[in-house]
Amino acid sequence: MMQTPLLVGSMMEHAEKFFSKKEVISQTHDTLHRLTYKEVGHRTRRLMSALARLGIEKGDKVGTLAWNHHRHLEIYFAAPGMGAVLHTINIRLSPEHIIYIINHAEDEILFIDEDILPLIEKIHPHLTTVKAYVIMSDKSTLPDTTLQPLYNYEQLLTDGDPAYPFRHDLDENDPAGMCYTSATTGKPKGVVYSHRGIVLHSLALGLADGGAISESDTAMPVVPQFHVNAWGLPFACTWFGSTQVMPGPRFTPQRLAAFIERFRVTITAGVPTIWLGLLQELEKGNYDTSSLRSVLCGGSAAPLGLIRAFEKKYNIPFYHAYGATETTPLVTISRLKSYQQDLSEDEKLQERSRQGILVPGLEMKVIGSDGEVEWNDEEMGELLVRGPWIADAYYRDERSELAFIDGWFHTGDVVTVDKEGTMKIVDRTKDLIKSGGEWISSVDLENALMAHEAVFEASVVAIPDPEWQERPIACVVLKEGYEGQVTKDDFIQFLEPQFAKYWLPDDVLFLDAIPKTSVGKFLKRQLREQVKAHYQIKSE
Ligand code: ADP
Repeated sequence: MMQTPLLVGSMMEHAEKFFSKKEVISQTHDTLHRLTYKEVGHRTRRLMSALARLGIEKGDKVGTLAWNHHRHLEIYFAAPGMGAVLHTINIRLSPEHIIYIINHAEDEILFIDEDILPLIEKIHPHLTTVKAYVIMSDKSTLPDTTLQPLYNYEQLLTDGDPAYPFRHDLDENDPAGMCYTSATTGKPKGVVYSHRGIVLHSLALGLADGGAISESDTAMPVVPQFHVNAWGLPFACTWFGSTQVMPGPRFTPQRLAAFIERFRVTITAGVPTIWLGLLQELEKGNYDTSSLRSVLCGGSAAPLGLIRAFEKKYNIPFYHAYGATETTPLVTISRLKSYQQDLSEDEKLQERSRQGILVPGLEMKVIGSDGEVEWNDEEMGELLVRGPWIADAYYRDERSELAFIDGWFHTGDVVTVDKEGTMKIVDRTKDLIKSGGEWISSVDLENALMAHEAVFEASVVAIPDPEWQERPIACVVLKEGYEGQVTKDDFIQFLEPQFAKYWLPDDVLFLDAIPKTSVGKFLKRQLREQVKAHYQIKSE
């Protein structure tokens, strides 16, 4: 067979050739833009020529600090398309972490959204490698700023060459992109994506039993483009010629609901907190969501109650998927097998709330204290994965040796697998609660609590216990109107029939909000501190 390289730039060329009339609809700060792939292709080529003129060479890192919009999409293809490396930076991280990430990656140039400018102005004296800044804006004038030199994105494009070629002389194993994990502990860790990894991962997003994205879709990735390449959707959707809807800066659940209705969105993707917010909005407004055929949900466990609400109340198919920054990210997706369609409605929901089965192309194993565990849905162990879109190291980071061992990525997730091969995340290794020599899954308790009608969000953490080692404490945020209507005992009674007695939380705390990470996951480290402070327990 021929050895033709799998290259990111070729995906855009494909869209230009075969889907030139299809559209990218993009909300920026000021304007709703509608561009065809022909236009996006030309703009990407202009941008490549501008990067070359600014001195960007093969292997250089091109940093972005931006929301989901067409300009960001163009950099997704322009940087790797001319041999450079797209480095998406999580704008919600602390300034210290952003400085660390930019210096560690050695970014040469930074593309920034207007509203991120004040942040970069504050930190730019600490940036050691950045030689130029580009502001992405609908305005033609440059803002008054201390950043030097600063270019206007649209001006660079105007001066660029619309016929500039995508490079074909790259190795498919060359770096195309990079992203740092959002660091629930320690400094962020960098992951480098190869051209080959991104292209093969995109194929998995197109498989009927994978992401099932096709030309006929109108896709709205809600997961930020600065988080694991918006789960690879911008790459796959461009390649397949799907219409893309990009919700832009600081979107609200209202904008998401309105865009779904207005643009007849068929597929969308994001973390559970986004869908909890959208659900509240759908309950308030009278939106037409009948176009939606797939909500992809991952990043943290999707509570069963959430899946039920989308599917039963709004008739919106909801698919639970699992992955990580290190895995590009798609690893498993939860779809029923043909012969599971006969299960009862409840059994189907139970099955669908699991994280699902491995997408073709990857391998997995589950390692317990005595080696590989049986797939009997009872034995727990850490999930290990490998495959062509799984990283094999962190970027220049000695912590690599803790996670990448003997050719396997150790995910840090504790799972069980049933006889069907369907995986269920029990917990993150560090969040499992050890009580009297037994393990308690904080995720199971959270999901059960979030199925209660009064609960908006719930998170469960351990506190140290002299007798049992650790005990679970539930933290609950009530839905509007339920304050004072439910008590701790109501929740314990609600959980009692579902769990062994020792699983029941020792206490239920009512909070206004649960602290979250920069990508909307429960920030358990901070919550644990809050809970300990509540009981006046000293931190070690
Ligand atoms: P971070 O480690 O900073 O949270 P990632 O965004 O890469 O960075 O998160 C990956 C982790 O998110 C996984 O290891 C897993 O713990 C969790 N995760 C991802 N998808 C799911 C899911 N569907 N259910 C439960 N946990 C999930």
